[in-house]
Amino acid sequence: MAVGEGEQQPLHILLFPFIAHGHLIPMADIAAVFAARGVKCTILTTPANAAVIRSTVDRANDASRGTGAPEISIALFPFPDVGLPPGAESIPSISSMAEQYKMAEALPLFREPFDRFLAEHHPDAVVSDSFFHWCADAADDHGVPRLAFLGSSLFARACSDSMLRHNPAEASPDDPDAIISLPDLPHRVELRRSQMMDPRKDAVTWSFLQHVKAADERSFGELFNSFREMEPDYVEHYHTNLGRRTWLLGPVALASKAMEERGTSCLSPDSERCLRWLDEKAAGSVVYISFGTLARLLAAELREIARALKLSGKNFLWVITREDTDASEWMPEGFAELMAWGERGLIIRGWAPQVLVLNHPAVGGFVTHCGWNSVLEAVSAGVPMVTWPRYTDQFYNEKLIVEKLKIGVGVGAREFASFIEARSQVIDGEVIAEAIERVMGEGEEGEAVREKVKELREKARSAVQEGGSSYDDAGRLLDELMARRSSGTA
Ligand code: UDP
Repeated sequence: MAVGEGEQQPLHILLFPFIAHGHLIPMADIAAVFAARGVKCTILTTPANAAVIRSTVDRANDASRGTGAPEISIALFPFPDVGLPPGAESIPSISSMAEQYKMAEALPLFREPFDRFLAEHHPDAVVSDSFFHWCADAADDHGVPRLAFLGSSLFARACSDSMLRHNPAEASPDDPDAIISLPDLPHRVELRRSQMMDPRKDAVTWSFLQHVKAADERSFGELFNSFREMEPDYVEHYHTNLGRRTWLLGPVALASKAMEERGTSCLSPDSERCLRWLDEKAAGSVVYISFGTLARLLAAELREIARALKLSGKNFLWVITREDTDASEWMPEGFAELMAWGERGLIIRGWAPQVLVLNHPAVGGFVTHCGWNSVLEAVSAGVPMVTWPRYTDQFYNEKLIVEKLKIGVGVGAREFASFIEARSQVIDGEVIAEAIERVMGEGEEGEAVREKVKELREKARSAVQEGGSSYDDAGRLLDELMARRSSGTA
């Protein structure tokens, strides 16, 4: 009997996402995956964060209406009053160190609504973001199994685990170019010191990540938005060497029914035009450039990207998410002409329909900051990447893309710095243009990269189909939770 059918009440799972798009979006997609398997899902979040996932939830509910499947609901709690401006409820809304500290003050206050929900509703399980490490104990207090979710690759998590266990940078020379090897991994992973988080400079984050790791280890298990065929040796490493229980459910974006408005309540007014513009371009001729929801590029970086796009000769679609970039500060001479009548390119200001763009046949390359959702979306669309990591897990993801899977080429990013830290490395337009050519051009390297990413696309699509590895992992997890309930452990 399938989970959730028959006389038994369906499983009820509470999902508790972190307050950033890159965490909220896949969590809503996971709810859609579970709901399609007959699970009642509730997503607990604040009003402004709910707006990010509302369309995904509505579309999933519309699709299942009349089938007897339970609906996904959103349970709201007010964002704690810590002195942040109204509506500033998520990481992308932070614009200074002072606001970051206030946000850090607000997060532990999420425990009260979380506890209250568990006490009132007694769900069968909780999927909570790894960053809410205190959820492990809170869920335990209520006798509810906690599944941790961070929205990273297993590869990146294994690298981070190695770093947190061994702190290999500690014994290395204090030189940003020093090469650091991460111990105890299935293959050799080396980064420059400048590409890693430095515990001596940021003891607070280091200690926070240690808490996250410890809480994940004592949780019921960990959920990943990835698929077995993408990183099989790291799935094995995670189980066998790290002794962790994992379920891989991805790419969960393939379950989303809300492709256009996914992740926003406010699509860019340029969105419709950009999709029509793509329709007029030759297959594989357009490079898509987006740095996700958090990166803030320096004017000098924007200028070099513009120079690269001019030099590359490729058609381009470039997302500038923030409204406050004044073109006169960075736009090089002759660039505006490339966009007159949309002949060579377009800039989208605001939120782009990324999944639709990546799946458009005109798109042949993606310049990305290597956010894990963007990487999986590119893989699911079969689009090769030009990698330009900035911080968090992005440098690890670049290693996976460029060195292991060989589905992209790097621009040579060397500086780990968050969006509110000072940044100094500016990559030359010539270097960026060369990386675009290596991925999209006629050479052997480009052909090989394109072939590999298309092979992986097929594996990604199969993984989420009935009988695929991610489909089966979801089934195993739900069966186990149901068995737990029946045996009275829940
Ligand atoms: N995204 C989008 N349109 C935009 C910017 C971002 O649809 O204009 C989506 C993108 O498809 C992805 C998510 O936002 O699902 C960004 O997550 P990712 O992990 O790639 O990067 P982050 O923003 O967390 O750094």
